[in-house]
Parts: sequence; C-alpha cells; structure tokens
Amino acid sequence: MKLYQPGDTSKAICPHCGTLVSTTLAYRDVPFDDGTGMVRGILAAVCDKCEALVSIPVQSTPIIRRTRGSK
Ligand SMILES: [Zn+2]
Repeated sequence: MKLYQPGDTSKAICPHCGTLVSTTLAYRDVPFDDGTGMVRGILAAVCDKCEALVSIPVQSTPIIRRTRGSK
C-alpha cells in the first residue's frame, strides 16, 4: 500500500469539475458519508482547480472508522 504524504500529487476524476484533474494531498475536515458528523484533519486528495474533496486514501479510512465508533 502506498502511503501518501501531504503535498503529494495525483490525478483523479473530480466530482465537482466532472473531469480528470490534478489533486494534491492535504489535511482536511471530512464529513461522514451519512452526514452524521465529520472527522477533522485527515489526509485527503483535493482538486487543484476547485478544492473539492476528490478521494480519501485507504490509509485514512481506519481513522474515520475509529472516530465514528467513538461516538
Ligand atoms: Zn474540481
């Protein structure tokens, strides 16, 4: 598994732009899928054009799960 660092770049389809964009890994507050809360300061891929959240690296998902479980 590749471990991402803040500032790493990648390419992904941005749901906001609807096209292939460059993304940069940065720390973001990410809302849960079901909207019941958010997890603060996890590493996520952010669109370079519109700053929308594009994807969450696999390495960050255990943190989300742990945060949800503690509620
Ligand atoms: Zn975008």
